[in-house]
Amino acid sequence: MQTAPEPTRAPRPRPTRPAARALLLALLALPPLACAPSDGSKVATNAAAGTPTPAPAAPSTPAPSGVVKAPDKGDFKVATREPDPDMTAEERKDYEEELKSLQETADALNKSFSLPHDIYIGFDDCEEANAFYDPEKKKVTVCYELAEDLYDAFKKDYKTDEQVDDAVTNATTFVFYHELGHALVDAYDLPVTGREEDAVDQLSVLLLADGTDEGERMVLDAAVSFSKQSKGELDELAFADEHSLDQQRYYNIICLLYGQNEEKFASLVKDGTLPQARAERCSEEYARVDKAWDALLAPYTK
Ligand SMILES: [Zn+2]
Repeated sequence: MQTAPEPTRAPRPRPTRPAARALLLALLALPPLACAPSDGSKVATNAAAGTPTPAPAAPSTPAPSGVVKAPDKGDFKVATREPDPDMTAEERKDYEEELKSLQETADALNKSFSLPHDIYIGFDDCEEANAFYDPEKKKVTVCYELAEDLYDAFKKDYKTDEQVDDAVTNATTFVFYHELGHALVDAYDLPVTGREEDAVDQLSVLLLADGTDEGERMVLDAAVSFSKQSKGELDELAFADEHSLDQQRYYNIICLLYGQNEEKFASLVKDGTLPQARAERCSEEYARVDKAWDALLAPYTK
């Protein structure tokens, strides 16, 4: 993440630039995936996060016996879009950096996953603060507007722009992995009981919270971003939504993080962030989802 150029703050001729930069940073922070599904250990490591071109991480253990590896028939590919003809030279440079980062991300993912078909990843202007997986186009899109919204949400919390950028980067990275989870569920036709939205939140935590401070910070910032989005008043639509309520997503994420390392995150319970009643089950909860995702992805990891 530190390898990316510092964001330019002012003047801001186009409000989307800081967001684009934040997402660029987010991609540079994406961990390479290394899967070691046989021993219940995590499916990923981001030990090399922050390096522009992550090295492929070899699986630390052989595939569990009985797991038939699926053929690799597709790749993660960068979803290109027409550059805005009115771009300034600086914006053009940002755009090209963005494509480069996306390609590095795709390369890292391709070293980790066998796919039945190509999956596209990219950023776009969406006219809403969101991120999507489109099963028709097989495409993950993170909207610039999402990073802008997160920027606004986080800016009151931090003294420096750099700190705000880091928080935005972390939360957007989590969202990218959430969408990647939808793409994998679709690609492999994975069985999911319960809500897919919760399952892919879990996957995002598993991929990021790998024991490194950096990865865990991403998960914490993502949790906080959900808490910030939660609305005081809830209407029927919120209850009917396919996603859990933002506050529930917040606690689910915090619980998994705590469950992954109770000692390290004991302060989350001590300071009341995670209620004791929930905290008691988090270690089991973490072990269960970790095991489930390891088993689900075992045929598809390289
Ligand atoms: Zn989703």
